[in-house]
Amino acid sequence: MTVIKTEFDEKLEQVRLECMKCEKCSLCHSRTNTVFSGGVPNSKLMLIGEAPGYYEDMKGEPFVGKAGQLLDKILGCVGFSRKENIYICNTLKCRPPENRDPLPEEKAACKEFLDAQVNILKPRIILLCGRVAVNSFLDTKLGITKLRGQWFEGPDFSKMMPIFHPSYLLRNDSREKGSPKWLMWQDIKEVRRVYDQMNV
Ligand code: SF4
Repeated sequence: MTVIKTEFDEKLEQVRLECMKCEKCSLCHSRTNTVFSGGVPNSKLMLIGEAPGYYEDMKGEPFVGKAGQLLDKILGCVGFSRKENIYICNTLKCRPPENRDPLPEEKAACKEFLDAQVNILKPRIILLCGRVAVNSFLDTKLGITKLRGQWFEGPDFSKMMPIFHPSYLLRNDSREKGSPKWLMWQDIKEVRRVYDQMNV
């Protein structure tokens, strides 16, 4: 079977290849793998997390540890899956040592890859998963607890919503009304509702 490559595929592949060999910040020295993305590239839904952790660094894929498994479960409950209809990436493409917070200079150095992913893919809905992703797009001092569940205008007329990071949900086990897990569930249902309205 002949695979026909579109201009879209070629542009994204070019950015991916540049990212794989990137040495623009010191994280290139400690990484095992660069973690560019997971999921389906031409999805209208994109999720942006923080940075690779231990398992992501080992496998070269985003969100594959416990937090990633929880994320897959939550997304799956409303019919989103990285095999079918969501593209997943991180703000930083290389793992910070001991999973420390990304430094401002690392985020600045890596932003060109994230911007390229957003510009090429042109998702209709962008989920900003956790504080680091939020700070890359929204100029605000408000925390994720205040911002989650709200829609913001994103690049190219997309809609952006901050959501909790699944690692935060792992530390908060309650499912009672008002708990982080309960709030995440409300947010994901709202994302599905808007996604369906967009007829994408
Ligand atoms: S984190 Fe980003 S900028 Fe830094 S080396 Fe990795 S790909 Fe390059």
